[in-house]
Amino acid sequence: MKCKICGMNINEKNYDFNSFAFINKNSISNIVYCPFCGVSSIYLSGDDEVIEVDSKKLDINTLRILDHAVKLEIFNGEFYKEAAKKAKSEEVSKAFQALSKIEIFHSKVHMGLGGFTKTPALTKINYDKYDSDEALLKLAKEREEHAVYYYERYKNEVCDENVKRVFEALIEVEKEHIELTYEYNLI
Ligand SMILES: [Zn+2]
Repeated sequence: MKCKICGMNINEKNYDFNSFAFINKNSISNIVYCPFCGVSSIYLSGDDEVIEVDSKKLDINTLRILDHAVKLEIFNGEFYKEAAKKAKSEEVSKAFQALSKIEIFHSKVHMGLGGFTKTPALTKINYDKYDSDEALLKLAKEREEHAVYYYERYKNEVCDENVKRVFEALIEVEKEHIELTYEYNLI
């Protein structure tokens, strides 16, 4: 089984990767999401179809939107990596670790769409003032809401239908991450 969005092959060795980042869990007989980029099963296919984009045909505005999307996902991925170190609850820490991997994966998806080869280096942020799991989860929720807002705002500005399809798939993933911050806040 292949993910049409990130192109990864899903098999018995990797189906449960990043499971702490999902509300519903994959089982080997029932794959409900891509364990790498998190998209739902409607984007998984038995044939080898992958959503592809010819980056040379993208206009400047779309490339700019994708460049910013790369940075947004790296920014969130790096936040989760730091948050995983700071979280006091082991469960919350595992969720942040998994979320970090997924967001970094999203940045790679956007790099592929835009034909970008150089991973941008962002300024490191100090998250010391977020000194409780509640504060980290609240910031996580805000970051995810911003990602949803970004994709919603720009999905109709991009010049390529397939870029739009990817944005729509990722909106659903980031919305589930918002839900997840509520779930973990109850622990
Ligand atoms: Zn995927």
